[in-house]
Amino acid sequence: MKNMKNNNFKLGNLYIIATPIGNYNDISKRALITLNKVDYILAEDTRKTGILLKYFNIKKKLYSYYDYNEKKKTNFILKKIRQGNNIALVSDSGTPLINDPGYRIIELCRKKYVDINIIPIPGPCAAILALSISGLPTNRFCYEGFLSHKKNKRIRRLNELKLENRTLIFYESTHRLLKCLYDIKIIFGKDRYVVLVKELTKKWENIYGNNISNLIKWVKLDLNRLKGEIVLIVSGYKPSLYKNNYEISPKIIKIFLNLKKELSTKKAIKITSDIFSIKKNLLYKFYIKKKY
Ligand code: SAM
Repeated sequence: MKNMKNNNFKLGNLYIIATPIGNYNDISKRALITLNKVDYILAEDTRKTGILLKYFNIKKKLYSYYDYNEKKKTNFILKKIRQGNNIALVSDSGTPLINDPGYRIIELCRKKYVDINIIPIPGPCAAILALSISGLPTNRFCYEGFLSHKKNKRIRRLNELKLENRTLIFYESTHRLLKCLYDIKIIFGKDRYVVLVKELTKKWENIYGNNISNLIKWVKLDLNRLKGEIVLIVSGYKPSLYKNNYEISPKIIKIFLNLKKELSTKKAIKITSDIFSIKKNLLYKFYIKKKY
């Protein structure tokens, strides 16, 4: 399928193709057509992609492309594209680059090799699918991928996210799930609502939402609930969860007081409440009570 124009080679295209996250029937028609017509396929794990291709009776030369050889392989791939070859990039499952390899080559094409055409073929992504059925706000969200496996780093990141008011999305692995749930409980508080979404599109698909304390109890009732591929959808910070109506976090107070130095009380209240999505009335009551 080399691209030719007036006997001269034209550049090939780079196709970024999403593949199923469990159920092969979720592959798109366009993904299949494209996988059939490209010259080469770059795969995170050639064995796993080989199984998918075999299922759809597609025979193509596969090259491995994963985090540790991404740097080395990128020049080789760019050369192939410049020679007129059409190349597809897939990951083991879902949308490439979403916690999967591919960033380096796309970045290079966008910034340096701008004449290379990048064509995305859409399809499943576990984070978006989990968010869509979580029952938590979907208009604004914050994708965090995997938390660090190192406890210190995980705790630090969770502390940074404690006051994030958008819905949070985490990927988590079976063996770290409980530790991660305990850390969320300690840092975000026992009342934070969390939805555990596992094995999407597969036989043991299961979705359970509750406050973090009850969610941990539910998981411990049957440790099989820890198994499988998991997305955690965590409710964003809501100041109304504070026990006392007059209690506002130190961060909010600091920002409010800084704004008040430059602005009228009314404006400082409005801006602070917009930033943190808290009721103006709550800040006003706080202001009256503390008499700042
Ligand atoms: N690129 C993928 C995507 O678009 O979702 C994500 C790849 S990341 C390396 C793998 C993680 O995604 C898993 O550890 C799990 O957290 C999540 N995941 C993938 N498939 C899933 C599924 N069927 N159900 C729930 N989570 C899934």
